[in-house]
Amino acid sequence: MAIRKILNKRDETLHKVCKPVVKFDAKLHMLLDDMAETLVKAEGVGLAAPQVGVLRRLVIIDVYDGSGVKELINPEIIWRSDETQKVQEGCLSCPGEWGYTIRPKKVRFKAQDRNGNWYESEAEDLFAQAVCHELDHLDGILFLEKVVEFIDPEQMQE
Ligand SMILES: [Zn+2]
Repeated sequence: MAIRKILNKRDETLHKVCKPVVKFDAKLHMLLDDMAETLVKAEGVGLAAPQVGVLRRLVIIDVYDGSGVKELINPEIIWRSDETQKVQEGCLSCPGEWGYTIRPKKVRFKAQDRNGNWYESEAEDLFAQAVCHELDHLDGILFLEKVVEFIDPEQMQE
């Protein structure tokens, strides 16, 4: 496994729409493993492929609840709760920037696993927030566009 470089928001790659994953091969597995290692090292909750320069529709998420890294390939949100949550948000591609966003409290999504098998799952709280944030990356959207109130970075340093 290897640590991959996380691109900064200034990189045009982060503003493009990603293409579907079509090959579920060793190269994909290596990418997923590298992204997991990169995520742990960066102490992030989620990482989308375009953040490491790959314009394909896949993300990984780890909400540190003991269930490990979740892999969402070609993911789609199929349901969002009417109930929302106002949450603090940041992004590994936007160091030092924080803000509040309004996200659904729960989402239901479908995705493929690393072998191409489709599955459905429900996410709530931080996991739901991460699914929304990471899937936006696949369409070239950064959380900064969703911020309703920016947070002074001084307040986040502890
Ligand atoms: Zn992000």
